Amino acid sequence: MVPELDTARVLAASWNPDDAVVFPWPFLWGYAERARALGAAVHPFTRVTGFEIAGRRVAAVVTDRGRVACDTVVNAGGAWSREVAALAGVRLPNRPVRHEILVTEPLKPWLGPLVSDLESGLYFSQSLRGEIVGGMGDPEEPEGLASGSTLRFLARFSRALAACVPVASGLKVIRQWAGCYDVTPDNNPILGAAGLENFLQLSGFVGHGFMMAPAVTEAMAAWMTGGPPDEIFERFTIRRFERGEVRREDFIIG
Ligand SMILES: Cc1cc2nc3c(=O)[nH]c(=O)nc-3n(C[C@H](O)[C@H](O)[C@H](O)COP(=O)(O)OP(=O)(O)OC[C@H]3O[C@@H](n4cnc5c(N)ncnc54)[C@H](O)[C@@H]3O)c2cc1C
Repeated sequence: MVPELDTARVLAASWNPDDAVVFPWPFLWGYAERARALGAAVHPFTRVTGFEIAGRRVAAVVTDRGRVACDTVVNAGGAWSREVAALAGVRLPNRPVRHEILVTEPLKPWLGPLVSDLESGLYFSQSLRGEIVGGMGDPEEPEGLASGSTLRFLARFSRALAACVPVASGLKVIRQWAGCYDVTPDNNPILGAAGLENFLQLSGFVGHGFMMAPAVTEAMAAWMTGGPPDEIFERFTIRRFERGEVRREDFIIG
């Protein structure tokens, strides 16, 4: 499938024919447009600055553009979810950890699937415009909300990519950038109420939130509107950390 791979380094591989590569921005705009069409109000560029608490519940969300009274609040703050929860006096064990990525000059199409090396954390795919887009986690990356780019990542990624697909050795990098993974102690998400009865968490997606979001949010929306809770809300409740029922997920892309 990827004859350019140096298979001498590979012990075993798996292929998922249902996988796809999605350009995130149009996907997100599509969600917002459809939500608006269904009657939801979407307020971009609006910062949550606090919460009004009444007893064990959030009574209102305070923003830099006004106050919103609420029945239920979902904290989907990604790498900022711990910060947002702290505004409600709730402690989350999530940590923001920078994840770097880059894009090369475009090449003629040669790469079909996204390739991920679970040992090094290297992953890469080819965009429709022919660029190789890829990243690699760094076990030495310290915790913190950082989005700068480093020479260290450029060097580590280039070496790992060239070792994996030697034909990529002469590629020119055109841009680097970074964002933060929202990392939990067991690399699994935190879902459902935490600290307050109506303060629901939808966070801790590490490097997989884009893939998981459509399924998880559908289950959460069904639950919030009176449906029975999916078993994931019990499995990934924040209470698992108190109970010591933690099973660490090591199958992380990046
Ligand atoms: C470089 C990189 C590559 C990745 N690649 C993949 C991939 O290939 N596949 C995959 O599935 N996942 C990938 N991920 C992970 C994925 O991006 C996240 O898991 C996902 O975006 C999380 O979605 P979210 O909606 O929970 O949070 P986010 O998309 O981070 O959204 C959180 C939002 O909350 C906003 N916010 C923060 N504080 C406040 C506040 N006080 N008030 C109001 N709003 C606030 C932020 O501005 C942000 O818009 C990648 C991450 C990075 C950094």
